[in-house]
Amino acid sequence: MAMARVSPSSSARLLPYPLLQSFLRPFSSSVSHLCSSRRRSSPVAAAFSQASLSPHTVSEGQVMEAPSTSSRRPWKHTCLYYTQGKCTMMNDAMHLEKFSHNLMEDLPVSASAADKVKLQKLDYFLILDLEGKVEILEFPVIMIDAQSMEFVDSFHRFVRPTIMSEQRTTEYIAGKYGKFGVDRVWHDTAIPFKEVLQQFEEWIGNHNLWKKEHGGSLNSAAFVTCGNWDLKTKVPDQCKVSKIKLPAYFMEWINLKDIYLNFYSRRATGMMTMMRELQMPIVGSHHLGIDDSKNIARVLQRMLADGAVMQITAKRQSATGDVKFLFEDRIR
Ligand SMILES: [Zn+2]
Repeated sequence: MAMARVSPSSSARLLPYPLLQSFLRPFSSSVSHLCSSRRRSSPVAAAFSQASLSPHTVSEGQVMEAPSTSSRRPWKHTCLYYTQGKCTMMNDAMHLEKFSHNLMEDLPVSASAADKVKLQKLDYFLILDLEGKVEILEFPVIMIDAQSMEFVDSFHRFVRPTIMSEQRTTEYIAGKYGKFGVDRVWHDTAIPFKEVLQQFEEWIGNHNLWKKEHGGSLNSAAFVTCGNWDLKTKVPDQCKVSKIKLPAYFMEWINLKDIYLNFYSRRATGMMTMMRELQMPIVGSHHLGIDDSKNIARVLQRMLADGAVMQITAKRQSATGDVKFLFEDRIR
């Protein structure tokens, strides 16, 4: 799939929300009337149950709050067709009122916070938080500018298992994503891991973070994860299952928990602990990969604003495959 150099999220940034709203409001009732039958049968509308859409809904493991700078308007779920480049309802006023199509809304940066950022060794951070126990089911990446802390772009794909049976996959997806009301969008969009990586390489290539012909590590960017599991264990396991060689760009990463420990001198065992200790509200649904990635990105933004300098915490030796940890004090 061709990815434009200028991401959809960058162009969405050009339409200020109040302007969009004032444009939409006078038309919304007639649009609603005209489109009601179409909307009812649309896969996008069907993909999210009404109950799970309410910004006030708080069920198991979910907290939905707006970051303080955008608290004047109700928080909206991000359209997960849009995050995968597949939303066909960008002209539907009702759809736009219901779903956010701008991930930057959840990652606001104030000028005063950005002023406090120390000089970083890297230009970009790629926050990755995989979902899936047996096989990877979701591959979400949030790209943050290291110096301005601003959201640059995102890459999000639902991943179709390679060896898990169809029945088991359906049951598992119903259990895992059904409670967020997004199992339909998973089934509509999931593609095999091998294709996800091909599209991801095109994406990092378009952002000049990697060159296929060089085949090596990322150019002035690094993955940021919450723990070592994603890149130490899960990606190599999935590469074996999908019968592909572990790409070189997965050989090193920043475990935010190790940076957190060494910067604040406090141990945090997970994202929720870090956010609680930093007194940050959680946005979206915990264990929906794209929302967890956003929340980890928000912790990263906060740590940068507090003066933390990000650095690689783990490296895999290409000859032996062993992982070397670079911090003496780390979360085990
Ligand atoms: Zn959409």
